[in-house]
Amino acid sequence: MMRALVKHPDGPGLAMEDVPVPDPGPDEVLIRVHTTGICGTDLHIYEWDEWAQATVPAPMTVGHEFSGHIAGIGVNVGGFEVGELVSAEGHVVCGKCRNCLAGRRHLCKEPKGLGVNIPGAFADYVVVPKQNVWRHIDGLDPEIGALFDPFGNAVHTALAFPVLGEDVLITGAGPIGVMAAAVAAHSGARNVVVTDINEYRLALALRMGATRAVDPTKTDLKALQGELGMTEGFDVALEMSGAPAAMDDILANTIHGAKVALLGIPAEAYAIDWSRVIFNMLTIRGIYGREMYDTWYKMNVLIQSGVDISPVISHRFPAASYEDAFEAARSGEAAKVLIRWAD
Ligand code: NAD
Ligand code: ZN
Repeated sequence: MMRALVKHPDGPGLAMEDVPVPDPGPDEVLIRVHTTGICGTDLHIYEWDEWAQATVPAPMTVGHEFSGHIAGIGVNVGGFEVGELVSAEGHVVCGKCRNCLAGRRHLCKEPKGLGVNIPGAFADYVVVPKQNVWRHIDGLDPEIGALFDPFGNAVHTALAFPVLGEDVLITGAGPIGVMAAAVAAHSGARNVVVTDINEYRLALALRMGATRAVDPTKTDLKALQGELGMTEGFDVALEMSGAPAAMDDILANTIHGAKVALLGIPAEAYAIDWSRVIFNMLTIRGIYGREMYDTWYKMNVLIQSGVDISPVISHRFPAASYEDAFEAARSGEAAKVLIRWAD
């Protein structure tokens, strides 16, 4: 038996329960979970909001950000060894749709989410399909490995457009926004300006390498551009808050021909000033998940070439204190909250 954080359909909250250790099927890998991270998605599932009720087949074990060591290997699985430190790509693709068949798995028609649609990693053990297992580079800290899922969102978005020599605006200094700031700075952006309405997170953005981190309700972004010697606006914008006001800031502060990557998920549909998009000839690109496995490869390279994402870890809790972990994650004064399962 093992411990697992299970979502039940009867209301908010999660329950720590003893459940059987899952058996890996012929094409699956069993992983002893070391460290997990709490994502905004997990908070929605915990709260059991409308989206969660319509999406999660409760009762089910949740969680998708993790690292762990291989503990069992299905008979058809080659190339992995027991004891290796791994994480998993959380999107399990169908393998049959037009994009999957063409090798564009990140564009799968109906990916299933680990810990969202299928049993997840907030447990002592998790089983994942072999094609979703990512072996980490030698010596990687398991805590950094547990960040690879959201780090991948940051890398996928930050590298969606060339940033070398460019002025980059990042709206939203959550864990993903601040990691994107580190990646953009490392990748040669001239200025990386991060906006948020939370002071704790603005301070973190500066620690992660932002040139400036400001509250856009208090600092005029046009004036800030002047201070930084910019004249025509940001070349690249990364939307990482989901806030409609942030999209307005992007439209008002980007250069003609700017490239805009959207990762933040809005709570509901909202209107923008489309004439700005048209007259300024903006390119807008939606970003979902990570590219399999180009983004993962780049994460390795970024870490090996000196990007330090460890400051994004604000809290660590043992699995037994999961309620405290979720409370910390809900508070404004947190970035990435980790839950440790291994001894
Ligand atoms: P988060 O919720 O921790 O961070 C969002 C930040 O945006 C918060 O710090 C908040 O204070 C800030 N914010 C709110 N209003 C703002 C405004 N007007 N201007 C600037 N900032 C503002 O989220 P995260 O975990 O860092 O993820 C970032 C976003 O990406 C979220 O919207 C999340 O749902 C989304 N997401 C998307 C994908 C994907 O594949 N597309 C994957 C993971 C997360
Ligand atoms: Zn598919």
